Amino acid sequence: MKFGGTSVGTPQRMKDVVQLITDGEQNLVVLSAMSGTTNSLIEISDYLYKQNQEGAHTCINKLQDKYLGHIAELYSTDEYKELTTKVVGEIFDTIRSCAKTDFTSLEERIIVAQGEMLSTNMVTNYLLEQGYDVQLLPALEFMRTNADKEPDLKYIKEHAEQVLAQYPHNGIYITQGFICLNVDGEVDNLQRGGSDYTASLLGAAIGASEIQIWTDIDGMHNNDPRFVENTTPVSHLHFVEAAELAYFGAKILHPTCIQPAQYANIPVRLLNTMDPTAPGTTISNITEHRKIKAVAAKDNIIAINITSTRMLLAYGFLRRVFEVFEKYKTSIDMICTSEVGVSMSIDDRTNLIPILNELKKFGVVEVDDNMCIICVVGDLDWRNVGFESIAAQALKDIPVRMISYGGSNHNISFLISASDKQRALQSLSNHLFN
Ligand code: ADP
Ligand code: ASP
Ligand code: MG
Repeated sequence: MKFGGTSVGTPQRMKDVVQLITDGEQNLVVLSAMSGTTNSLIEISDYLYKQNQEGAHTCINKLQDKYLGHIAELYSTDEYKELTTKVVGEIFDTIRSCAKTDFTSLEERIIVAQGEMLSTNMVTNYLLEQGYDVQLLPALEFMRTNADKEPDLKYIKEHAEQVLAQYPHNGIYITQGFICLNVDGEVDNLQRGGSDYTASLLGAAIGASEIQIWTDIDGMHNNDPRFVENTTPVSHLHFVEAAELAYFGAKILHPTCIQPAQYANIPVRLLNTMDPTAPGTTISNITEHRKIKAVAAKDNIIAINITSTRMLLAYGFLRRVFEVFEKYKTSIDMICTSEVGVSMSIDDRTNLIPILNELKKFGVVEVDDNMCIICVVGDLDWRNVGFESIAAQALKDIPVRMISYGGSNHNISFLISASDKQRALQSLSNHLFN
């Protein structure tokens, strides 16, 4: 069971979470930091990168005061108020010890990791105060990434099992989402929103019966509720559909968190802490035929086009183009080809300049920045007629840079200008769902 930032965002919410995890089952509970805390820790790091000790310490003290307020509200006994004040004080000492003049990414990662340390200690102590049989498991003892910065599945499984085996009889286990050690044994994390990924990795590692992602909304909606009115929850998604929606911008799920659950074939349920009896979304290997499920949008996309008459009837051209992206470890999201050109989209601009310089050896290169991918997900098997034309019809008034269809049976993607995103999402909802 994973609870996100809003779900543990106040002492009252923490009490609500305790209601849900003490259902008599053996539950492994993954917690995010309280909402706002990771952002505050990043802000503290930002001051430290800028050598502004005063700014950093003002933020640290303010954040600690906030936690002291939470402690006063959460616990009813002096014993647990004192105990938790001490633990929280130690965590803030760790943050202060990182406030060095030679501040590096390692200190930043240690600071950012403390949000999950705070929330898990707070909830564990509350459970103990209430008399529950709970064990706090330090995520850094089993969550680890490899040399490719990917989760080290073998290590995670072996170590999670070892740690759990030390406490075979506990009802509730609490651990930190998001944080891990990297291949060098340094504190690291699974990127923003990474607690979802922790939950699915651990669910797969221990062979859980179900992976529950508890958040602040009643499941995956059929469009982004931050931009579109009248979205509704989708009751069921295939793993591939959920993975594509997550990757293409549905913020409710971390982009890569579906894969471990899919490989282990463990259903994932998206549930609402604010409305625990709502059915939410179930993600499994069951396909519902002839249904468009949802639309998502991915921002900050760059489109690159290369045209060359040398491509005409030539072989090996695409390989040479792709080798440039491989060399700079930049993944391509969308691709469209014609006989004289190829267009691709990327979202990682780290090596954009050297990539463009090398591509210019092959043809005329054009770049469109500030683009966005709109991804329509559902049963888009090519033998089904009609869905792609409805989606295209919905975008009839919007300039479309690229269309990608047929790459999987679950997706049709449109590349449009970011300024048209909201209009496109709303129109797709109107045509596909309303
Ligand atoms: P948590 O802190 O629990 O991890 P997130 O903020 O990461 O929660 O994800 C939940 C939010 O995702 C929702 O409040 C909603 O605004 C946003 N969201 C974006 N797209 C969707 C979608 N298709 N369905 C549901 N929520 C979405
Ligand atoms: N606390 C981390 C973040 O804010 C991880 C998470 O919430 O999933 O990104
Ligand atoms: Mg999240």
